[in-house]
Amino acid sequence: GHLSVQQREMIARRRRLLGPAYRLFYTEPVHVVRGKGVWLYDPEGRAYLDVYNNVASVGHCHPHVLEALCRQARTLNTHTRYLHDSALDYAERLLGHFPSEFGHVMFTCTGSEANDLAFRVAKAHAGGTGFIVTHYAYHGVTNAVAEMSPSLGSSMRLGDHVRTVPAPDAYRNSGQDVGALFARHVQCAIDDMRANGIKPAGLIVDTIFSSDGVFTDPPGFLAEAVAVMHKAGGVFIADEVQPGFGRTGGQMWGFQRHGIVPDIVTLGKPMGNGHPIAGMVARPEILAEFGQNLRYFNTFGGNPVSVAVGMAVLDVIENENLIDNAAAVGARLSDGLEELAKTHAMIGDIRAAGLFVGVELVSNPRTREPATDETARVVNGLRARRILISAAGPAANVLKIRPPLVFSNDNADLFLTALDEVLREVAGR
Ligand code: PMP
Repeated sequence: GHLSVQQREMIARRRRLLGPAYRLFYTEPVHVVRGKGVWLYDPEGRAYLDVYNNVASVGHCHPHVLEALCRQARTLNTHTRYLHDSALDYAERLLGHFPSEFGHVMFTCTGSEANDLAFRVAKAHAGGTGFIVTHYAYHGVTNAVAEMSPSLGSSMRLGDHVRTVPAPDAYRNSGQDVGALFARHVQCAIDDMRANGIKPAGLIVDTIFSSDGVFTDPPGFLAEAVAVMHKAGGVFIADEVQPGFGRTGGQMWGFQRHGIVPDIVTLGKPMGNGHPIAGMVARPEILAEFGQNLRYFNTFGGNPVSVAVGMAVLDVIENENLIDNAAAVGARLSDGLEELAKTHAMIGDIRAAGLFVGVELVSNPRTREPATDETARVVNGLRARRILISAAGPAANVLKIRPPLVFSNDNADLFLTALDEVLREVAGR
């Protein structure tokens, strides 16, 4: 390949020091040394347009967030077993963004821990252990949630208490009521648990189905499945680690597009714009059993520095109208992609909610055969033009387009022009 000596050395060093389980993006990995807004920079000062990073959601190195972080780090950082206002002020502010049914916030450092905690809370409340996830879900790294994360790899052994259901895919089930279909699959999974002596505890979904391949429409398709799980005595957990904090445009949380009120919501990634803060938000009645019998302490979760960062992120989302921006720029991006679909037969489907966009590439629009190799070439072709995206879905044939929420119309146009060129190149035209 065309890797430089320095790149080769770094890759070998990584392998030697971090071991065999880590993966890099792109056939020519990107070496970054700083970031600002929607841009990342390599050691030579070349800029890369970040069309992928949903963690640095309010923009890389946002000055308001940095200021809050430094100010609090200079003043005090400790755990949650002293009286301190910051976690309370933040919890209050965060709950203000939730439907009134929600009453409590519990802090963690990662999305995995938040889901792990949600799993424990659900089990305590429902008095069962059975969990339903989608076929290609990802919910995190702890043993409990890795056992509910089939996307970790074909050799990932799911828990005996875990059942999977197909994600609500309106492209491959066109003409069908995908909400009803999804609910039927959930009911079958519940029946199967019961037949095996397992009591259902809950259904957990990423409300944008990002690892399954990004499924957005029609809004409302989750409602029936949630009702089915409630009827079975289990809870519904909305994993908002990816869609949360305004990304879907028009609303703060992905579940709101579906007109439902979950029992538990888990948060992470964009919550601290890169700083590790995550959490679980719950209805008080769901948390009662867990809180009665167990105590909870997370050394770093909810520390004053992390919550100061979380607070500053909320300031930026509100002050810079980022939810509206996600809706507006997301619409421009989707319109541009629809335009490209007219000339690129490879584009089989475009699924978008605000600045979360999936573009499914197929080698034949009629049979909808996944264009897995072509998708990898598109992702690497864009990388060669210093535009960063990735791919999702079990066949890795869905372009995952998920830029920071400060993405502008100009940024969107730059991306669309490059994608047009790369699709032409990959199609051999
Ligand atoms: N849930 C979803 C939907 C995720 O995408 C991720 C991270 N990719 C997690 C949970 C786990 O979050 P973390 O990496 O912060 O543990």
